[in-house]
Amino acid sequence: MTVELISVGTELLLGNIINTNANYLAVQCAGLGFSLYHQITVGDNEIRLYEAIKVALQRADIIILTGGLGPTTDDISKETLAKVLDRELIMDDHSKDRIMSYFHNAASSDKEMSEELYKITDNNWKQALKINGSTVVDNDNGTAPGYIVEDDNKIFILLPGPPSELIPMFEKSILPYLKKLQDKVFVTKMVKICGIGEAKAETMIIDLINNQSNPTIAPYAKNGEVHFRITASANNTDEANSLITPILKELEVRFADNIYSENEDETLEDVVVKLLKDKKLTLCTAESCTGGLLGGRIINVAGASDVYMEGYITYSNKAKIKNLNVNPNTLNTYGAVSQETAKEMAIGAANVSGASVAVAVTGIAGPGGGSKEKPVGLVYIACSLMGHINVIECNFKGNRKRVRERSVVAALDLIRRSILTYK
Ligand code: ATP
Repeated sequence: MTVELISVGTELLLGNIINTNANYLAVQCAGLGFSLYHQITVGDNEIRLYEAIKVALQRADIIILTGGLGPTTDDISKETLAKVLDRELIMDDHSKDRIMSYFHNAASSDKEMSEELYKITDNNWKQALKINGSTVVDNDNGTAPGYIVEDDNKIFILLPGPPSELIPMFEKSILPYLKKLQDKVFVTKMVKICGIGEAKAETMIIDLINNQSNPTIAPYAKNGEVHFRITASANNTDEANSLITPILKELEVRFADNIYSENEDETLEDVVVKLLKDKKLTLCTAESCTGGLLGGRIINVAGASDVYMEGYITYSNKAKIKNLNVNPNTLNTYGAVSQETAKEMAIGAANVSGASVAVAVTGIAGPGGGSKEKPVGLVYIACSLMGHINVIECNFKGNRKRVRERSVVAALDLIRRSILTYK
């Protein structure tokens, strides 16, 4: 099945809002195993929307339109599709009742606001019109219903623009409808890797990627990580899993301990916190160029308080000496961005906090401060685990933000690897 997405809204074209609906729906379609070859974004303009629908009709089996279902005159999605299909708009009593009770509930749950705000205006009834022969999809979070229109082997799905309305509607009503159209079962598995760049990771399995058909292997680069999504289609789940297993095993052999998770929902910091908990270890962070980003990532994990004791942001040399007992001679001799300083920061953090694991990051995030010997992007990360120290040197490319983010990923990965290799 081929899907085409038409996002309607002048705000989208002007760049005033980001098209997060397109992102969400594209992911959903991929998960359903539908092919999405084209997306169109079009303003609130009837002629251009009419053309867009006509073009999509030639290319896709399912056309999803988002936005333009509101009560105002510039909301034209339903009206334009009705013209393309040469169908009438008719009043839908069910939608009318729902709009009435929506306003009634909103008004009675908000006594503070003036009654005026919750008055139904004439144009609200525009939202109770449906394309003749369409199926109305209830909107539990707003007044604009969605619609499914089947026409001559083509399917049109109209969804409201606000993501807070579109996503629940899609999950509750559209997904089950689309699932029934699938003649195959799709199973996906995720392999998440860190410590290897995207280009290298792809090269390592280029033979598998070049020969892929079913399952497919899709790489995604994510801020210092690479994720591979393996998708198989088959007549049933067991068959799909048996197609995926050999590929999964092959990736495990090739990427070995660079794989930190095979769970779609698990982040690198989740894995680090879990490892710390499993091994009954505690953590302290000492950050210079990352300035708290690393601690923030750890605290993203619910339950991090079981393992994360404290974090130091020691940006200046003075702070490194005062809080982490870094030797001033080390700073003078080797500089703040050096293996030696990173090491002393980690040892100091472990001593001061009493944590069993201490990780330290010091580097040049740029854009200034670099030199020939110590260029922007040079970062040292040290991890002390019960006195056993690992130090790595990284040379990141990119701007300040990127260098800082990469440093955090490398630091999390160093904690992970230090724990995994600690006997
Ligand atoms: P409403 O019932 O609120 O009028 P609608 O279906 O008419 O909904 P639009 O008027 O096109 O939708 O958009 C309403 C709001 O929804 C936009 O201002 C924007 O905040 C959000 N929105 C619309 N389209 C998108 C999109 N593609 N991605 C993210 N947000 C969107």
